[in-house]
Amino acid sequence: DVGSPYDPDVVVIGGGQAGLATGYYLRRAGLSFVILDDQPAPGGAWQHTWPSLTLFSTAEFSNLPGIMMPGYDGFPPARHVIEYLAAYESRYDLPIERPVRVEQVTHSQGVFHVRTGRRTWRARAVVSATGTWSRPFVPWYPGHFRGGQWHSAHYPGTEPFAGSRVAVVGGANSGAQIAAELGAVADLTWYTTWPPRWMPDEVDGRVLFRRNRVRALALVRGEPDPGPADRLGDIVMVPPVREARDAGRLVATPMVTSLDRIEADHLIWCTGFRPALRHLRGLLAGRTPTVPGLFLVGYGDWTGPGSATLAGVAPGARAAAEQAGAFLGH
Ligand code: FAD
Repeated sequence: DVGSPYDPDVVVIGGGQAGLATGYYLRRAGLSFVILDDQPAPGGAWQHTWPSLTLFSTAEFSNLPGIMMPGYDGFPPARHVIEYLAAYESRYDLPIERPVRVEQVTHSQGVFHVRTGRRTWRARAVVSATGTWSRPFVPWYPGHFRGGQWHSAHYPGTEPFAGSRVAVVGGANSGAQIAAELGAVADLTWYTTWPPRWMPDEVDGRVLFRRNRVRALALVRGEPDPGPADRLGDIVMVPPVREARDAGRLVATPMVTSLDRIEADHLIWCTGFRPALRHLRGLLAGRTPTVPGLFLVGYGDWTGPGSATLAGVAPGARAAAEQAGAFLGH
C-alpha cells in the first residue's frame, strides 16, 4: 500500500553534492522525495577534508545544476564548498533529514524498504548517492608497521607530524598534496607504486571538466570513447604541489614489498576509497542494480565520466531523476 501521504515517490540516500543535485532534478520532474543523510550538518564529505585542502578548479568550474558557486579568488577551500552546498539546500528547499543513517535497503513486491534507526521509509524508487568517504581503502601488505597509522580520510593537517619521520603511501592527488606539505615540516618518505604521473602544469579542473563533458557526449552519441580525463596524468598540479616538486621536496620512493621495511613514526595511507554501498547488499550484482527502480549517482567514472566531481555530477543526477520519473509513470 505504498502511496500513503507519508511515502515519497523516491528516497535519496546521501545528502552530499550528488544527493542534492539529484534532489534538484527530482523536484524539476515533479516527484516527491526525501533525502536521508547521516551527517549532522550540510556539506557531505567536504566537512572531513584536511585543513589545507582546496578544490582543483576555480569556483566557476565547480557548479552544481542551478545556482552557481559564489566567486572565489583562486582555488576555493572546502569551507567555501560547504557554504555553497548549505546555501544550495536552502535555496531549493530540499527535504533533507539529518542525521539519519540508512542501515539497509530491501525490496519486495515492487517496494523498497529503507531502514534507518528511527523508521523505515517505503518508496517505489531509491537513488543511492552515498559517496566514498566513509569507506577509506587500505591495500594489504605483508609485515607489520609499528608506528601510528592514518588514512587521508582522517588526516588532520601537519601539526601532529612536525619533526617526526612520516611515510606517505600513494601516488595520486591526496598522496601528492599531503606529501607536499609534510615535506616542509617532517622527515618524509613518499612511497608510490610507480613513478608519479604529473599532469601538465596548465591542466586544472577546468580542463578535466571539459574532457569529461566531451567524453560523456561521445558515449551518449555512441561515438568512439575518447578515454578518461586521467589519461593526462594522476596528479593535478595545484600550487602547493607544483612548488614542492619544483623545490625538489616531492621525490617518490618505490613502494616496499613488506611493511617491516618502513621505518617511520607515522604511516599515512593515501590509497583512495571504495563506494559506500553496504546498505544495498543483496540488491546489486557487483555494482549494478538487480532490481528496477534503484539508481546510483556520483560514485566515480563508472556512474558517468567525472560524476564524482562537483561540475560532473549533474548528467548522472538528471538521468537518475528522469529514469525514476519514467519508471514511476510520471
Ligand atoms: P559525499 O560528499 O561523501 O556525500 C555522501 C553523503 O552521504 C555524506 O554526507 C555521507 O555521510 C552520507 N552517507 C553515506 N552513507 C550513508 C548512509 N548509509 N545513510 C545515510 N547517509 C549516508 N571534486 C571536485 O569537483 N573538485 C575537487 O577539487 C575535489 N577534490 C577532492 C579531494 C579529495 C581529497 C577527495 C577525497 C575528493 C575530491 N573531490 C573533488 C571529489 C568529490 O567532489 C568529493 O568526494 C565529493 O564529496 C563527492 O560528493 P558525493 O555527494 O558523491 O559524496
